[in-house]
Amino acid sequence: MFEDETVDVACPKCNHKNSILVRDFEESAQTHFVCQHCHTGVKIEAEEFKQRLDQVLKEVRNLEREAARDAKRPAKRPRKGDFQI
Ligand SMILES: [Zn+2]
Repeated sequence: MFEDETVDVACPKCNHKNSILVRDFEESAQTHFVCQHCHTGVKIEAEEFKQRLDQVLKEVRNLEREAARDAKRPAKRPRKGDFQI
């Protein structure tokens, strides 16, 4: 269930990390967002991005599985991938 998962995408101009909903990538071939820091419009090609997104989601799943298996350890929030465009 990753509908509300976000990934951090670094702004190509100021390198500010913007949180983008994974759902936005699932729904369209291209995603636009406006950098929260410098207000630059950034376009992301989902095709290219999705391969890395799949990797990140796979890692998140693995971490969640491990956390569930090892109940003694407090469940750590999985690290999110940083995306450099
Ligand atoms: Zn920016």
